[in-house]
Amino acid sequence: MNKVLVLGAGQLARMMKLAGAPLNLDIKAFDVRTNKVVHPIANEYTFGDLASGIAQADVITAEFEHVKHDVLAQCEASGKLLPSSQAIKIGGDRRLEKALLESCQVANAKHRVVDTYSDFSNAVSDLELPIIFKSALEGYDGKGQWRLKDMSQAEAIWADMEAFVKGANTSVPQGIIAEQMVPFDREVSIVGARNKNGEIAVYPITENHHTNGVLSVSLALPVAEKLQQQAFEVFSKITNKLDYVGVLAIEFFQLGDTLLVNEIAPRVHNSGHWTQQGTDTCQFENHLRAICNMPLGNTELIRPTAMINILGEDNVPEDVLAISGVAIHWYNKGKRVGRKMGHINVCANSEQQLADKLTKLASILDPKAFEDLQQFADMLQSRVNQ
Ligand code: AMP
Repeated sequence: MNKVLVLGAGQLARMMKLAGAPLNLDIKAFDVRTNKVVHPIANEYTFGDLASGIAQADVITAEFEHVKHDVLAQCEASGKLLPSSQAIKIGGDRRLEKALLESCQVANAKHRVVDTYSDFSNAVSDLELPIIFKSALEGYDGKGQWRLKDMSQAEAIWADMEAFVKGANTSVPQGIIAEQMVPFDREVSIVGARNKNGEIAVYPITENHHTNGVLSVSLALPVAEKLQQQAFEVFSKITNKLDYVGVLAIEFFQLGDTLLVNEIAPRVHNSGHWTQQGTDTCQFENHLRAICNMPLGNTELIRPTAMINILGEDNVPEDVLAISGVAIHWYNKGKRVGRKMGHINVCANSEQQLADKLTKLASILDPKAFEDLQQFADMLQSRVNQ
């Protein structure tokens, strides 16, 4: 079991390749844009088409959930796909995701499926304002979410949503989920692994901050046991139900002491990148261990760690590396506004030290490129001082 084919050739496949090298794993990636099997780090080296990639692999996995269904079927037919195509599809369709959450009886925001105008009217009367409408499948061109705060907006939102559904060029029929807006205190996620024997290892829950709707900072600190237990139970219910093998992430809204599931990602996740420096076994290695049927590695937090996404920049001052406990991970991607280009992990011995390092980092990085970092560092400083 040492030849792995990853569906998708982005940064997650790249980081799997890097994490798998010490285990002597031979990892290749299937680039869905070119339909070629490529080297996950040096994408110009190609190794043939999907059929030959499948034939040569011992195990096949995915780095994203929007893989075309015919590709998933072809991989599943080989008997090598982990996690299953069912689990991957659930991550790519909010209707399947909600049905799974209901069947596992895990708490999530009140919602309705909307296909027709009458579903829309019923959703608006059954749910309280504000309501968020989300495209069930992948959105495109920044489209795919609408917020209804006032009934006067309803007709215009429906018209836009209807046009979106009709215009969506997807192989599976598009649809909408209407969801009650949740007045959450914070957003957190849990990342964990489950292997074929049903053994589970989860990382401590991570606090996630978004800038303009994109994850900008994840914070891994020691967690209150009860909250961690709650997240663990949800993780166990979902992964056991799916007989899931691999790493999976669950995003939550936290209200007081309660966690409501927002969404599930059947793969390694951006909010788990901190594990590269903050734990003994990072999420990429644990995913590979799970799918290659190896024992799972330790997931405990070994030191407080923050992960800062580098968005739309292909350079940061080298002075950043002079801060002890800082690691930069570049993805070797072409520069584009808002694109995930890399991330910075910052490790410390205490929360206070982490706040100090983030303050220092914010003073070095360009505030235009790292908009909320200073504010985030200040927030952490004031939390520590409380
Ligand atoms: P999603 O694509 O579902 O992750 O939504 C993107 C962001 O919109 C989330 O990270 C939240 O900040 C916000 N959001 C989504 N759904 C809700 C909800 N039901 N209540 C409040 N905020 C939400």
